[in-house]
Amino acid sequence: MLIRNALVIARPATDKPFFGWVRVRGNRIAALGEGEPPAEVSADATRVIDAKGRILIPGLVNAHAHSHSSLTRGSAEGMTLEPWLKAVIREQSQLTPEQARVSAYATYAEMLLSGTTAVMDMCVIPEVAREVAEAIGIRAVIAPYVADTMSFAPTLDRVEAMLASTARGARVRTWVGMHDLESASDALLQEGAALAREHGVGLHLHCSESKFWTEKTRARTGRSPVEQLEHLGVLFEGTHLAHCVWVNDADQRLMASRGASAAHCPHANLKLGSGISPVVAMRKAGVLVALATDGSKANNRLDMFDVMKFASLLAKGVAHDPTLLQPGEVLAMATATGASVLGIAAGEIVPGSLADLSLIAVDRFHLQPAVPETVVTNLVHAARGSDVDTVIVDGRVVVENGRLTLVDQDEILARHSAVGRELLKLGK
Ligand SMILES: [Zn+2]
Repeated sequence: MLIRNALVIARPATDKPFFGWVRVRGNRIAALGEGEPPAEVSADATRVIDAKGRILIPGLVNAHAHSHSSLTRGSAEGMTLEPWLKAVIREQSQLTPEQARVSAYATYAEMLLSGTTAVMDMCVIPEVAREVAEAIGIRAVIAPYVADTMSFAPTLDRVEAMLASTARGARVRTWVGMHDLESASDALLQEGAALAREHGVGLHLHCSESKFWTEKTRARTGRSPVEQLEHLGVLFEGTHLAHCVWVNDADQRLMASRGASAAHCPHANLKLGSGISPVVAMRKAGVLVALATDGSKANNRLDMFDVMKFASLLAKGVAHDPTLLQPGEVLAMATATGASVLGIAAGEIVPGSLADLSLIAVDRFHLQPAVPETVVTNLVHAARGSDVDTVIVDGRVVVENGRLTLVDQDEILARHSAVGRELLKLGK
């Protein structure tokens, strides 16, 4: 495949955008360059995408989401995390595999259509999520929502079966997931971490999200949640922590020294009144901080452009410093850092990296002028997910002209709406 005439942002943190071309061979980036492609590159291509009037970026990576939570968006509103969790856990405990399937289709559809090519999905019925991710074409790391205090949650045996049946390098992979320190026992966490290490995968959990839960861990153990993870021996390179709102300097240093990463979910933290994650300080301490939407009920939109803007503005506003988190750094957090956290060779448009790409149409007022000098800040602060036109995952076009190519988008939307109404008991 050859993509030509694009305004290319190859490595957001370091490189200047340019007008040029990208050659994809199989599922990898083969070459790229400014201006017109050389004759041999054009002659060799079996498919050419003329990207005139479009921006080409590495696909966005959503580092923490829940594919089971898209059915009842807009319910359980106006609550802090503790009663909110009770409400969503009640719903999750009654979810059927068919409802989980509809929700996963809707979640991944919304993500792909807004330029997200890879997701870390902590989900209740992981086998179903895996099947749906495979069908719709998104790259996914499935982190089952394990917790031995919740009878409906998947068990480690199921996680192990999924790990055993995942081929190395597969587009849809499995990690070990745990809900959090207070819903999974210490022994289970240690067992889960051992399983992750045995299979060479990561461990994903919610951590230090609200003051209440952080203090709960401290009251039980005498340690902060991050210190407790260290105490249990489960803080390692590959431990990926969602939220990290209530992490102090010592926690941040500990995370950095162990190579643990964070998923910053600004919408969920603001909406549930949990607080504001010290993203700039964590990055300064050496922690990899990726960006994420969290679930639909905590956001309420799965749009990584929106997340980038919130992350950028929050960091500046909290510190009274507009020089913090420059647009290139924010776009890199949503691409290269996310990919690195998920352990996938994507997130930059360089030869050899996975061909996970998004094309954004600029023929709209809010993206003008689209020139190399302004394009990065305008992507972070002006673009919307609905500006995405084409999405390529693993070298395959999965969204074209704003429509999903591998599945019936209208049918997914109709079922999504029907099941959501049924669950909210609104009738047809
Ligand atoms: Zn979450």
